[in-house]
Amino acid sequence: MNLHEYQTKARFAEYGIPITRGKTATTPQGVYEIARELGGSVVVKAQVLAGGRGKAGGVKVAHTPEAAEEVASKIIGMTIKNLIVRRVLVDPAVNIASEIYLGIVNDRSSGKPVMMASAEGGVEIEIVAHEKPEAIIREQIDPFLGLLDYQARNLASGINLPHEHWKAFTKIATNLFKCYSASDAVLAEVNPLVITKENQLLALDGKMVIDDNALFRHIDLADMRDTDAEPIEETQARAAGITYVKLNGQIGCMVNGAGLAMTTMDMTKLYGGESIGPANFLDIGGGAQASKVAAALRIILSDPNVKSVLFNIFGGITRGDEVARGILQALDEVKTNIPMVIRLAGTNAEEGRVLIDAAKVPNLVSAATLTEAAKKAVEAARGAI
Ligand code: GDP
Ligand code: MN
Repeated sequence: MNLHEYQTKARFAEYGIPITRGKTATTPQGVYEIARELGGSVVVKAQVLAGGRGKAGGVKVAHTPEAAEEVASKIIGMTIKNLIVRRVLVDPAVNIASEIYLGIVNDRSSGKPVMMASAEGGVEIEIVAHEKPEAIIREQIDPFLGLLDYQARNLASGINLPHEHWKAFTKIATNLFKCYSASDAVLAEVNPLVITKENQLLALDGKMVIDDNALFRHIDLADMRDTDAEPIEETQARAAGITYVKLNGQIGCMVNGAGLAMTTMDMTKLYGGESIGPANFLDIGGGAQASKVAAALRIILSDPNVKSVLFNIFGGITRGDEVARGILQALDEVKTNIPMVIRLAGTNAEEGRVLIDAAKVPNLVSAATLTEAAKKAVEAARGAI
């Protein structure tokens, strides 16, 4: 889950990372009030879950409350990377001397968090990584020890940070790791971390991505979710207790178990080749209540790219005949002509297949193996496009 800049910076402040203290508003009038309250120049910043807002015209400095209201009226309602700006952050403007990048991500190859710093701050780090990889200095962090002072100094020296800022930098880097770790984040970055003309270090922009699987123990963070930036189907799926990720293929996959869902997607790609593939990842979880199957089916079918549906269900504690009944009941509720293939395996699979065959749903065929099911689903999708 991505946090907005204003949410991230509020979190940073709790961990002692220096930020400019602004406020958010959803109307130009609200921006005017905040700007008047803050006094002096302000920066008005679009709060959308996308990078490169500056380049897109979503970050503007204004010297009077009237000017702030004026720029806000342009920023609120504008579209940045397909996202409509509904809220802006109004921060006291800062006189920037230089911009640094500082961030932490989970590094899968080492199985550790890695902190990265670069003197090339302000621009998207992916661009720096691509064009000038030597400009990024890295330190692997032992999660049990946290970031050690010498590591922060290595980073500071690696980016040629003037010595007078090393102490403040070390504190910010240490606190950024604490914030990252305590928030169960998979990414935390400050870009830019600026040196002001008054010689202060300040986190001017912040971004955090929280591990969705840890949100159950961060109710406060979970409440910050902005569903604007995700496909509507994913929001509906979460409400129904289904794990769903929209993809770009044509075969809707309805599977129980995450591993089996991944395998199912791989199989559709294996037989689908370049042009046909999975339309989604979907793990319906345990149980087979018709209501949940129906909710999942509705979500799958709401994707106009879907040309066939593949059910791949492994009966364990949930028996195959229960699943079959759930699916049949769901098909009663959700009318569709899209071809569907079902592969049932495990406990009471045979009983389940008998039920499916007896129901004689015209657009539903069963398959004995996953290979057969995947081939049939691919064939049906190919026939439809
Ligand atoms: P992003 O483009 O989405 O990453 O948004 P940022 O918050 O990083 O802002 C983009 C750029 O706007 C920064 O790199 C700065 O150069 C500039 N900027 C942001 N806030 C201020 C400010 O208070 N004063 C000045 N002069 N520039 C700012
Ligand atoms: Mn930025």
